[in-house]
Amino acid sequence: MSLTKTTCPYCGVGCGVLAGADGTIQGDPDHPANFGRLCSKGSALGQTIDLEGRLLQPQIGGRNAGWDKALDLMAEKFSTAIRDHGPDSVAFYVSGQLLTEDYYVANKLMKGFIGSANIDTNSRLCMASSVAGHKRAFGTDTVPGTYADLEEADLIVLVGSNLAWCHPVLHQRIAAAKEARPNMRVVNIDPRNTATSALVDLHLRIVPDGDIALFNGLLAYLANTGALDLAYLSDHVAGQVPAITQARLDDPSESGLSQDELSRFYEMWAGTQKVVTVYSQGVNQSRCGTGKVNAILNCHLATGRIGKPGCGPFSVTGQPNAMGGREVGGMANMLANHLDIENPDHRARVQDFWQSPTICRRAGLKAVELFEACAAGKIKALWVMSTNPAVSMPDADGVANAISNVPFVVVSDIMARTDTGDLADVLLPATGWGEKDGTVTNSERRISRQRAFLSAPEQARPDWQIICDVADRMGWKNAFDFASPAEIFAEYVALSMATMDFGRDLDLSIFADADYANLIPTQWPCNDKRFFGSGRFYHPDGKARMLPVSAPELGAGDTFILNTGRNRDQWHTMTRSGKAPRLGAHLAEPYGEIHPEDAAHIGITAGDLIELSSPNGTSTVRALITERTAKRQLFAPMHWTRQQSSAGWVNNLATSVVDPASGQPASKSNQVTARKF
Ligand code: SF4
Repeated sequence: MSLTKTTCPYCGVGCGVLAGADGTIQGDPDHPANFGRLCSKGSALGQTIDLEGRLLQPQIGGRNAGWDKALDLMAEKFSTAIRDHGPDSVAFYVSGQLLTEDYYVANKLMKGFIGSANIDTNSRLCMASSVAGHKRAFGTDTVPGTYADLEEADLIVLVGSNLAWCHPVLHQRIAAAKEARPNMRVVNIDPRNTATSALVDLHLRIVPDGDIALFNGLLAYLANTGALDLAYLSDHVAGQVPAITQARLDDPSESGLSQDELSRFYEMWAGTQKVVTVYSQGVNQSRCGTGKVNAILNCHLATGRIGKPGCGPFSVTGQPNAMGGREVGGMANMLANHLDIENPDHRARVQDFWQSPTICRRAGLKAVELFEACAAGKIKALWVMSTNPAVSMPDADGVANAISNVPFVVVSDIMARTDTGDLADVLLPATGWGEKDGTVTNSERRISRQRAFLSAPEQARPDWQIICDVADRMGWKNAFDFASPAEIFAEYVALSMATMDFGRDLDLSIFADADYANLIPTQWPCNDKRFFGSGRFYHPDGKARMLPVSAPELGAGDTFILNTGRNRDQWHTMTRSGKAPRLGAHLAEPYGEIHPEDAAHIGITAGDLIELSSPNGTSTVRALITERTAKRQLFAPMHWTRQQSSAGWVNNLATSVVDPASGQPASKSNQVTARKF
């Protein structure tokens, strides 16, 4: 059987897959992200493409309805809300699972035609702190790293990243490079001892949110030992004096590390030119996530370790298209194509390009704010696409109640029963992976095609088409008269080219004459361009910024710090990965990792149930007693939903504490109490 070249729908590594309608799955040997490798989740994709549990008909009030009726009702309800209460009375909450073309038209509809920026995404929970940190330091949200840099580096520093489980093929690539070059060293900075720790030369078990103290300590060490690149700083960086002054004020032992551990790390870093620092959710999902990002970037900028092969900071994204979504502006504080909402010239150019009746003038509501506005009765119509916030947001019960408070709720999804879908007035059947066409961007800025190899089941439609159908009924047919994702991609590329005179990083001209059907995986702006290689950044003076950041007060209490995250073999709320029996066999029930001394203290023995409580509620999980988790800390996977395990889902325990600069929730450090159930 002939196999279709497509891209894995799970993590931000963005592996190429060869897929067949009979469930055949192989790694694509030609894809530059994975060169034929797949992890456990990717290789089990063939077990997930059945139609069990699928939403196959539009529904209104729980009853099957035709597309025309559902779309007419949507257009009427959204138009009425906008007319009676203004454009900010409606909102979209979208997903890093959407393809770039879906994201592009959703963003265009909300920002250019409805005239609000109330479109936010579950990517807010994934990498918003990295976006904010990049913009502050570089002037743009540029991810300068590539996967090849990881293989060229002499020192890889993994911060807040269980790469072995969450980005497994990148982990495999590093392991292979380390085997080929035994002098390569890897440092893991993580409060937990994870599967990733087995690979590394040095594991630094910092306290939760101890990252700023650690990296400020590194910056002070570099300054105190004459290890700064003074010529680079003079030519290419501003703000170094206050950043270094602030760094010297922090006590690196606040990171929780011994002087010996600090010295080993600092000497290793200072003595190695080719350093890549990879960071992920342990950095981003924090009340000081943006500060952590800038503390890392400060060290790379201060030493000129950026813009060169085997060098630089590297944010790796959790979702398959978190990068594509932010590129087309699918977040509440961005305009399309890395342009700025606050910039009147950018707004005018985009409005002119779209020939749109309006354009949003200020940032919209970020995820947590958006659901708070729902609870406060300010949102009159809400459209949730391809995500399940009623279980995945912090304070999930509160979010479910907030959604219930919205007079008109639409959910488009591939599954018939989700916690959020159960709250919808209108349910719309979307096509899923293997049925839809479009593009995604992986963590190294590589745009790859997702291609259909299955026909759309019953009445399911691609998200981009549903969005365009609604826009048509709201009176904007001409602007959304796309016949295919290829046409949307072409417009997205044209918008990039029409705005290049603003001096932005997002140059898609390499795709200007692209053969969309046969598009090969391609990095923007072009395959051999190295961002910041010339030392030019995107602030008006061309210089990068070092930011003074200070370590947070960590405070000791008698509560536990609950860290939530992923298991090796599951994805998000398991709607797809949960279908594969092989994946379900690994860690099959909700559990909580607890240190043996803490377990003994509260009378827990192996196999007992443990009850976790926060101001939001309680959760009961199986105790997994292990020294992998430090004392007074707990780890629990975030996969189980209210529907799957009403007792064992944990996202409700998280409070809505966010990083003030990025709006990203602090999902790695929830305060809970624990007792034997
Ligand atoms: Fe899919 Fe990520 Fe695994 Fe690659 S590493 S196969 S993209 S889940």
